[in-house]
Amino acid sequence: MSAEVQCPAGCGPMKYKTNRNKKIRVFDPLGYAMIFAGIPFIAAPDNLPFDFLTSNLIVNMGIGIGLLVLGAQRTALVTTDLRCNTCKGLILESKSIDQRLKGDLLGLSENKAEYIRTALSSSKEESRYACPDCGEKMRRIVVPYEDGSHRPNALVPDIVEDIQNLSTVSRTVEIDGCEGCDMLWFEKAKRERMLSKDSTIIPKT
Ligand SMILES: [Zn+2]
Ligand SMILES: [Zn+2]
Repeated sequence: MSAEVQCPAGCGPMKYKTNRNKKIRVFDPLGYAMIFAGIPFIAAPDNLPFDFLTSNLIVNMGIGIGLLVLGAQRTALVTTDLRCNTCKGLILESKSIDQRLKGDLLGLSENKAEYIRTALSSSKEESRYACPDCGEKMRRIVVPYEDGSHRPNALVPDIVEDIQNLSTVSRTVEIDGCEGCDMLWFEKAKRERMLSKDSTIIPKT
């Protein structure tokens, strides 16, 4: 995409925003080294294997926690999206679509990115927005999803699960996107958050 992307809603240029996904770890040697270095400070602040540091327990704990937090920050997956500060719209580009809209590890639900791309390529509904990259009209799709924060535990008996199922929230979210540019446009950034949450799944059909 070009350096400056215009908001499809006509508000003007959009801004890149960097996000750290605290749950997904990437390979960052220094980050992991910091995490491991922090462990002895917390596990045994009064009995460190080296003596050049203070023997103050609180200071040692502080150093340990600091190392863990900084290490965790470094190893967290960084994704970027484009935001419009005027209308609160959000654009996901190709790489971010893959990173943010994965399927779950157990394969119980659709890969969200794959589902959305397939739906986009077969959608006949024209969006009212034009793609900011190629200028063509985008396509609009409706994506069903379940907010799995209340999802039943796989280990509980069926009868309990039936009751719990009632609280599983099924919803749909409307997305516009350009298949050619592999780009998604969310009129409200909130919708993207709902869909990219770890607990959200797209039910298999
Ligand atoms: Zn806007
Ligand atoms: Zn396009």
